[in-house]
Amino acid sequence: MTTSTLPDYREQSPEVAARFERLQQRPVTLEVRDLTKRFATPKGSVTALENVSFRVHQREFTCVIGPSGCGKSTLVRILAGLETASSGEVLVGGEPVSGPGPDRGMVFQGYTLFPWLTVKENVMFGPKMAGTPDFAAEREARQWIEMVGLSKFENAYPHQLSGGMKQRVAIARALANQPRVLFMDEPFGALDAQTRCQMQEYLLEIWKNVDITVVFITHDLDEAVFLADRILVLDPNPGRVREFVEVPVPRPRAPSQLFEPPFMAIRKHVDGLIHPPGSEKKEAPVVRLAAPDPDVV
Ligand code: ADP
Ligand code: MG
Repeated sequence: MTTSTLPDYREQSPEVAARFERLQQRPVTLEVRDLTKRFATPKGSVTALENVSFRVHQREFTCVIGPSGCGKSTLVRILAGLETASSGEVLVGGEPVSGPGPDRGMVFQGYTLFPWLTVKENVMFGPKMAGTPDFAAEREARQWIEMVGLSKFENAYPHQLSGGMKQRVAIARALANQPRVLFMDEPFGALDAQTRCQMQEYLLEIWKNVDITVVFITHDLDEAVFLADRILVLDPNPGRVREFVEVPVPRPRAPSQLFEPPFMAIRKHVDGLIHPPGSEKKEAPVVRLAAPDPDVV
């Protein structure tokens, strides 16, 4: 594994380079050492992840990207303690992970709110389970609900909310447990393109205001570049670390940056890692139902 080799951005953007230097000096919040995961299937053993190692620093925003089936969900499930590794180690704040714990929060793509609880009750759930008295849990829940901009909806039920609002509640609910790391597995994957962009901006706003380290899984390159400090690129079959790339796009991020040279350069670089030359898809066979037309090509 290498750390990024994008053309001389350090000279072009000393401020961005200085920020990365500072980030690297922060304590390591998440350390993954030589993680391998094999699944036993009726057809034999499938290696989903092989010797995956990387480190994430406090309050860093990391995106994990790679083609479907390369082991992204398996990785995040192991990090969250929902799945065991075949070998290797995961450390959060220097402590080995051996199961789910309140130091790690999770937001999935599917809406996982309790449908019979209101927004406020959903967010209070974690703190209450941890023994926080009702009045304090309610006060905390209100604070998180306000942070995700849903104060007017605290007494609404999940079915009364849009997809984007539900995911904002899911984020509030995860943060209410005050985790050190927030794992997000394609959390905006089911949203329409416009809502998805709004959610990305929301998430960055939340991240600015909370002491949280984010590991965000996506297969959307623009989303990864827009959000991340660094992008962990995984190769498929078996999932291995291809590169851990620094994203030299200045912060604060804004959608207008999507069309600026630093964004396009990093996007192209990561795209090249995911789709190496020669890996172009063969054309899908399509039954011809009309005569060839030189103007329709
Ligand atoms: P991604 O999230 O990147 O699409 P996954 O982590 O879901 O990839 O899957 C990685 C690989 O591991 C795939 O080949 C998948 O079929 C396999 N896999 C995942 N979960 C299981 C399981 N419970 N049993 C067997 N194989 C699995
Ligand atoms: Mg997945």
